[in-house]
Amino acid sequence: MTDPSAAVSSDDYRQLPSIDALLQTMTEELQRWGQAPVTSALRDITAALRADIASGLKPDLSIDAIRHALNSQLAIKSQSSLTTVLNLSGTVLHTNLGRANLPEAAIEAIVKVASAPSNLEFDLETGKRGDRESHVEALICEVTGAEAATAVNNNAAAVLLVLNTLAMHKEVPVSRGELVEIGGSFRIPEVMTRAGCTLVEVGATNRTHLHDFRGAIGADTALLMKVHTSNYRVEGFTCDVEEDELAALASEHHIPFVHDLGSGNLVNFSALGLPDEPTAAQALTNGADLITFSGDKLLGGPQAGLIAGRADLIAQIKRNPLKRALRLDKMTLAALAEVLKLYRDPQTLSEHLPTLRLLTRAQPAIRDQAQALLSAVQAAVLPHYDVSVTDCVSQIGSGSLPVETLPSAALQIVAQSGQDKDLRRLAEALRKLPLPVIGRLHKNALWLDLRCLEADQQSLFVDQLGSLHL
Ligand SMILES: *Cc1c(COP(=O)(O)O)cnc(C)c1O
Repeated sequence: MTDPSAAVSSDDYRQLPSIDALLQTMTEELQRWGQAPVTSALRDITAALRADIASGLKPDLSIDAIRHALNSQLAIKSQSSLTTVLNLSGTVLHTNLGRANLPEAAIEAIVKVASAPSNLEFDLETGKRGDRESHVEALICEVTGAEAATAVNNNAAAVLLVLNTLAMHKEVPVSRGELVEIGGSFRIPEVMTRAGCTLVEVGATNRTHLHDFRGAIGADTALLMKVHTSNYRVEGFTCDVEEDELAALASEHHIPFVHDLGSGNLVNFSALGLPDEPTAAQALTNGADLITFSGDKLLGGPQAGLIAGRADLIAQIKRNPLKRALRLDKMTLAALAEVLKLYRDPQTLSEHLPTLRLLTRAQPAIRDQAQALLSAVQAAVLPHYDVSVTDCVSQIGSGSLPVETLPSAALQIVAQSGQDKDLRRLAEALRKLPLPVIGRLHKNALWLDLRCLEADQQSLFVDQLGSLHL
């Protein structure tokens, strides 16, 4: 006989308490975790113990050992996978880290509508059915100067909806220099296909002229489209058709001119000392009949896609059945309204809106912050790593202003061994902290760019360094 269980006496199994017996002793656990999760975890644990016995092991079958296993199993299961982190990556609007942090007013508004019924689609005046977009449409018009507006789940959805509404079974000429991939497989040509329209490529990658567009327009042309090349820039021998020229050409042919702005900021960036980026209002002034942009990029709000422009086109878009599939939920609408309201007072905007607050932080203040944290970080990583305060550049992120950077300061950590694997080990240890810290590996160092470490998080950051396991 080669069956190992043959060597195990039935006595060994008999020492394993029954589920019923275990449940009797687990009163506290039952209170804490509930009957069904405890029973199911006990089944798993006793099955594992039985398998251990069968393979000839002598596992600890005491109630205490089982209780311990039960609590750790259920604690792991109750953890949320989605958790907050400290973004010290140097990229302010990091798509993988959730982009914009919301202002206090928006968070309060989310909590409010999440916890009670609201007039989401109910007109309190008439007592009849209302329009969920009434809560944001006027505000979007106010900040962009548009006649009408609507909002959907994100900017990818906005582009899809605009194209599907205005150009299904028709042609859309786009400059070859603007056939962008935004990331996460959102590519303009593929979105066009899914929207049911035919892309007509115009010009060359580096140069597109007005006459190229003119030549591409035919009986089947639905609209002209310009896509903001938000995550790269073609430099050198380039030529781009100006917005007002495209607008005039579109109007000559009685077709709309649509401009996908991508990030779509609403305030004059150079006045804030930031790299210049045309505003949504400017894009409309420059002749766009419709613009589309994200809610959670430079706007600093929740994930959303905003569409603004001509009232007749917006009305058509609202009638598209796809609109229902892409619509915003009440929490996003509540947050978006609050964020847009902050734009009414440009003076206090960068104080109240986290995205602008972080983008406009001055390098000397960040350097001082790095200096203040230096000794705590040094103490936590000694003796295998050296830490210093070094100037660096932050990126805006989310494909906004790709070439422009913001002067910042970082704690630059190098491994004494000079080995990459030691840097990666440190990066991993930082990610395993209770509030995971996300840095950036670059040029043989780990950089903790402090631009996005807000004052109220600084002590959280320092206090947990004691539990760094290297
Ligand atoms: C980011 C971006 C999109 C996609 O926006 P999401 O809000 O991420 O869906 C579309 N077009 C351009 C030009 C962009 O920069």
